[in-house]
Amino acid sequence: MSQAEVLTDEQGMRLALAQAHAAAEAGEVPVGAVVVKDGQVIATGRNAPIASHDPTAHAEVVALREAARLVGNYRLDGCTLYVTLEPCAMCSGAMLHARLDRVVFGATDPRTGAAGSVLNLFAHAQLNHQTQVTGGVLADECAQLLKDFFKPRRLNPEPLREDALRTPEAAFADLPGYPWPARYLNDLPSIPGLRMHCLDEGPSDAPLTWLCLHGNPAWSYLYRKMIPVWLAAGHRVVAPDLIGFGKSDKPKKDSFHSFDTHRQSLLDLIERLDLQRVVLVVQDWGGILGLTLPMVTPQRYKGLLVMNTTLATGDLPLSAGFLAWREWCKSQPQFDVGKLFKRGNRDLSEAEVAAYNAPFPDPGFRAALRAFPPMVPEFVDSPGAAISQQAESFWRNDWQGQSLMAIGVQDPVLGEPVMRRLQSQIRACPEPMRLPHAGHFVQEQGEEIAQAAVRHFAP
Ligand SMILES: [Zn+2]
Repeated sequence: MSQAEVLTDEQGMRLALAQAHAAAEAGEVPVGAVVVKDGQVIATGRNAPIASHDPTAHAEVVALREAARLVGNYRLDGCTLYVTLEPCAMCSGAMLHARLDRVVFGATDPRTGAAGSVLNLFAHAQLNHQTQVTGGVLADECAQLLKDFFKPRRLNPEPLREDALRTPEAAFADLPGYPWPARYLNDLPSIPGLRMHCLDEGPSDAPLTWLCLHGNPAWSYLYRKMIPVWLAAGHRVVAPDLIGFGKSDKPKKDSFHSFDTHRQSLLDLIERLDLQRVVLVVQDWGGILGLTLPMVTPQRYKGLLVMNTTLATGDLPLSAGFLAWREWCKSQPQFDVGKLFKRGNRDLSEAEVAAYNAPFPDPGFRAALRAFPPMVPEFVDSPGAAISQQAESFWRNDWQGQSLMAIGVQDPVLGEPVMRRLQSQIRACPEPMRLPHAGHFVQEQGEEIAQAAVRHFAP
């Protein structure tokens, strides 16, 4: 025996483990192998089926190929292969073809091991004349590496769909007037694989639940001045961010967005949280979608608080104000969201303006901003128009709850004329509250509306 041959099995396995670590860093299942001849490593291999698009790229096969190329012979007489995991049938077969002297493996593989766990190719005298097998060398260390690799993936409950983006949490740090923790729903059947953010504060058995629905291009931040009033009254507040907005996931493609998908995601949310004693709070798209919800489960609702919005039934031409807005969005695809809020609400601080921009760190996040304006049902056969017509009939004839309407009078798009029409469509809707200085985003002056609503709806 020459000096060079004194490589212990443990030393050989350590070299294989180094290859396994390298595989893990490359995002592959961490299995590593080395081929040793006369005490010298002549080839290394690490698991690489993903990167190489090769189902045979197991660590052992990679190492065997390199070794055979090096010695210029497919027969690897006098060689020992060290591998961190019990070889599978394919690799065991390759080793037998290579006529290795020895195979030394680390952890056993109860799922696919072919050196004793599931089957034992090496034990068949018809197949194997020469290769000896030793298992269990540094087995714990080899197994732990695999466990560590799979653990974070198995435990990650909120994977992100490949066709969607997620605004980093850091974008929402320290928002003024919005101290509430993020809560997420990732199991709504209408939006598989997408995570919806939903502010949910106050007791679940509260006498009232204020379900606050925002529109385009806002998010639940818009309700920050109303939420504290309702929480102080001992009520529950639920304020989701529509998919594509706020802290919710953002599909990359405009074509994801449809009236039906967004409507169904809200219906799913209401079922999932089993909301009861609801006062539906809506404005803008929050109403275009939200006003079609109560007819599905009217028993869940006690009231309606409705601010600048409409029922888009498609049977009247869209207002000139809306058409101008739609055209503006199209011509200014990179418009500054925060600036838009500031335009109608001069008192907004820079930090508040930034909070409205926070969901959209770059243009890739803006699919919903592009998709929503053209999605407003324009004709009686537009997607969403038929369901809005059914909703109109519900509000006119079947609505049993209380209603309160608040109008931001300065709104050029969904202002007083539109709202007066809506009032006439809602059964027993009393004379609206008028906010002469409020614009489209009425909630920015929402504190007094919230207080009036507590008096109006509180049981
Ligand atoms: Zn294999």
